[in-house]
Amino acid sequence: MSKRDYYEVLEVSKNATEAEIKKAYRKKAIQYHPDKNPDDKASEEKFKEAAEAYEVLSDAQKRQRYDQYGHAGVGGAAGGGFGGGGMSMDDIFSHFGDIFGGGGFGGFSGFGGGSRSRGRRVNKGSNLRVKVRLTLEEIANGAEKKIKVKKYVECKSCTGTGAAKGSSHSDCSTCHGTGQVTRISNTILGQMQTASTCPHCGGEGKIITNKCPDCAGEGIVRDDEVITLNIPAGVEEGMQLSVSGRGNAARRGGINGDLLVLIEEEKHPELIRDGNNLIYNLHLSVPDAILGAPVEIPTVEGKVKVKIEGGTQPGKILRLKGKGLPDVNGYGKGDLLVNVQVYIPKELSKEDRKAVEKLKDSANFQPQKEESESFFSRMKSMFD
Ligand SMILES: [Zn+2]
Ligand SMILES: [Zn+2]
Repeated sequence: MSKRDYYEVLEVSKNATEAEIKKAYRKKAIQYHPDKNPDDKASEEKFKEAAEAYEVLSDAQKRQRYDQYGHAGVGGAAGGGFGGGGMSMDDIFSHFGDIFGGGGFGGFSGFGGGSRSRGRRVNKGSNLRVKVRLTLEEIANGAEKKIKVKKYVECKSCTGTGAAKGSSHSDCSTCHGTGQVTRISNTILGQMQTASTCPHCGGEGKIITNKCPDCAGEGIVRDDEVITLNIPAGVEEGMQLSVSGRGNAARRGGINGDLLVLIEEEKHPELIRDGNNLIYNLHLSVPDAILGAPVEIPTVEGKVKVKIEGGTQPGKILRLKGKGLPDVNGYGKGDLLVNVQVYIPKELSKEDRKAVEKLKDSANFQPQKEESESFFSRMKSMFD
């Protein structure tokens, strides 16, 4: 049987726009949708024919080849895509399901009031959860982490189909490939039709005649996989990143699950995190606080030298602008707040005691109330 012209199939003109083609396909797909025409082979063929035409005409490159060379230009032998003809119902559902606005796979919800379970089931792999521990330095710069996970991967022997070599999928005889069985019962209101998942094929519509021995027909096997994660800068303890498609593979060629990465933060030996700000408690000796001194402050980019002014009060907060952590959404950087503390010695030698006692009556060593920062102004400078 020779193929019909794709423009003719969708009933659009040769110079139809992308939007017109999409609209035309949608119309055809709804008209011939298997939910609307159960067990109607002719409708199924029309449904497939429209999808094939749309597959070519919706792709600018394929459309050009088709315009130039006709069906031969997009023939199956050329490979790529389903190349004209070999499209199964599953292919159509998974590739063009969104044409119905149902969103995502099996996206026929919202179509004709059908429930989500209508149509053939597409297997989805389960999500995989891992924890990743990061240092503050890694969080500051973002990190590439290689992790080894045990997961279900596609069986290489059967490339995920679950069928042994030489075996093939055949349409399930119980549901004739629809994945659904309908039961008609008589009630006082008339005949009631109920649809449920086919018990024979589990809703897949297909039966494998000869199972792959390596995966027992499941299409997946357990294996180790090394996954490289690119962790963005600024993440925080408890955050969860989702890497789409890197979870467990699905049974018999379905869609992979996602990899969910839970962030854990390693405690830094010297710095305390407060949102995007970092806090460092600097302990000065009494003479250094009085006389001033150069000190080294640890940061996530290494140590920086800071000059402490003579007469610095305990409780003073020094702000090192931009030495905090980057915001995970890219809104700038936090600061490093240096909380100055003065260490008061607990034990003194005779000489120490004499020296301090000498200072006791000095006018300069009498507390000056107005110079010490109040608790509230300290808190304010920490959080603004
Ligand atoms: Zn296999
Ligand atoms: Zn079945």
